[in-house]
Amino acid sequence: MFLTISTTGSAQRPATDLGHLLHKHPEKAQAFSTSYGTAHVLYPEADAERCTAALLLEVDAVALVRRRKGKGRGGAPDAALAQYVNDRPYAASSLLAVALGSVFSSAMRGVCTARPELPGTPRPLRIEVPALPARGGADLVRRLFEPLGWTVTAEPVPLDTEFPEWGDSRYIRLTLLAADLTLAEALRHLYVLLPVLDDAKHYWVSPDEVDKLLRVGDGWLAAHPERELITRRYLSHRWSLTRQANERLELVRLAEADDSEVEDLDNAVAQEAEADDEEKPTPLAVRRREAILGVLRASGAARVLDLGCGQGQLVQALLKDPAFTEIVGVDVSMRALTIASRRLKLDRMGERQASRVTLLQGSLAYTDKRLKGYDAAVLSEVIEHLDLPRLPALEYAVFGSARPRTVCVTTPNVEYNVRWDSLPAGHARHGDHRFEWTREEFRGWARTVAERHGYAVEFLPVGPDDPEVGPPTQMAVFRLGTPKEAKAA
Ligand code: SAH
Repeated sequence: MFLTISTTGSAQRPATDLGHLLHKHPEKAQAFSTSYGTAHVLYPEADAERCTAALLLEVDAVALVRRRKGKGRGGAPDAALAQYVNDRPYAASSLLAVALGSVFSSAMRGVCTARPELPGTPRPLRIEVPALPARGGADLVRRLFEPLGWTVTAEPVPLDTEFPEWGDSRYIRLTLLAADLTLAEALRHLYVLLPVLDDAKHYWVSPDEVDKLLRVGDGWLAAHPERELITRRYLSHRWSLTRQANERLELVRLAEADDSEVEDLDNAVAQEAEADDEEKPTPLAVRRREAILGVLRASGAARVLDLGCGQGQLVQALLKDPAFTEIVGVDVSMRALTIASRRLKLDRMGERQASRVTLLQGSLAYTDKRLKGYDAAVLSEVIEHLDLPRLPALEYAVFGSARPRTVCVTTPNVEYNVRWDSLPAGHARHGDHRFEWTREEFRGWARTVAERHGYAVEFLPVGPDDPEVGPPTQMAVFRLGTPKEAKAA
C-alpha cells in the first residue's frame, strides 16, 4: 500500500518544507511499526523546486488475521484462504489511513513547533494513490474530493495490462491536485475518505469513533454534500453511531452558516491582490469581468448562470447591476462556495437582494435540471480546469441540456504566455490547468460546439491584443439560433 504527497516550491519557499510539515527528514528513510505492519516514509525527490514524500505500508497479513480472530466473525470455508490471499498488501485501504494517522499525527493536527507558520499556509499539493479500492467507482471518488477543492483524476486500473479484454479491476489510480489547501487539511481528507472508499474497515468501530470523525472532519465534513454517505461508511454502517454523528454535524453546519466571520475571505483577497500585482495597471481578472458584463448587458440577459463561479467575484459584480434579476453561481467546490457566500455576505443581505442570488454545488460534467431555462451562462476560466476527455460532458451539460440563449466562455490564450515575464517557458499559468489552448485550438473547439448545438459563435479579445501572439484571455460568445456565424473584426 502506497501513496505519495508532493509539493512544489521556490528558493524563498522551498518544497523541502514538506519535511518540516510531516516531521520526517527528507534525507532519511524511516520505518515505524504500526498495528498492521511496518510503515516506511521516504522521499523519492527532495529539492527546493519539488519534494515528494512516499508512505509505504508493508502489511503483516498474518498479524492481521490473528487480530481478527476472537471477534466472533464466521465466514464461508474458503474465507480462511482469502484472509491470506487478498489485496491487502497492495491496495490503499483503511489500513493505510490508520498508518497515515499514526505516522503523520502532528502534521494532521497542523502542529509544527520548529516552524509554526508553516502548517496554516496552503501550498500546491499533489497526492497520488496508485491502487485505491473504490466502491462506487471514479464517479464517487469525484463526488467525495471535488467539493473539498481537489481536482481529481481517477483512472480505473485494468485487471491485467496484457489482457485488456478482461476489463477493469475495482481499483482506481487516483491523482489529487490542490493549490489552496493546507497539508493538514489534505491528510484529514485522506484519513476519512480512504476508508470510506474502501468501505470495509479492518478494525473495530467503537463509539469514540464518532468523536474522532468530528475532530478530523472539523471544517469540511459538516457541509459536505456527501456527508450522509461518508458518515455511514466511515462508521461501518452502524446505524446508531451514524445517526449520532449526523445530528452533531448538522448542528455544526448550522453554526457555520451563522458564522459571519470572514477570515478566509481576507486570505482570498490577499492572494488575489498578490496574483494581480504583475498585471498592473488594470488586473486581467478585472478586465475579464468587465468584458463579460459588457457581453451580458448587450445580450439583454436578466437571468444569468455563473458556471464554475469560484469565490464569487463575478456574482458580486452582477449583483451591483439591477438589470440582472436572477443570478446563480454554480461550483463543484464547497470550499469555493463557502468563501463566495462570505464574500457576498449572503446571511446579512436584505431579503430583496438575497432573492436575486443562489449558490449551487454541482458538477458541470453532469446534466442538471436546475440549470435549464436561463438567458445566459458564463464559463469564465473554467474549461481549462477539466481533463480534456471530460470536456464533451461539460459541452453536453451546458449547450445540449441547459441551453441558455447566450454562453460566454473565456480561457487563457497559451500563445500569450511568452509575454508573462514571471512565467517560465512551457509552464501553464496555474498549476491546476489541464490544458491551455492557442487561438486556433479554442476557435476550432468553439466552432464545433456551436455547430453541434445550433449556436452562432463570435470571438473577442480580452486584455491587450498583441499583434503577434494575440490577447492574454480569449473569449467566445455563443448565441442560440442566430442563423449566421458573426465573425469578430
Ligand atoms: N469563474 C471564476 C473561477 C475560475 S477557477 C473566475 O473566473 O475567476 C475554476 C473554477 O471552476 C473553480 O472554482 C473550480 O472549482 C470550478 N470547477 C472545476 N471543475 C468543475 C466542474 N466539473 N464543475 C463545476 N465547477 C468546476
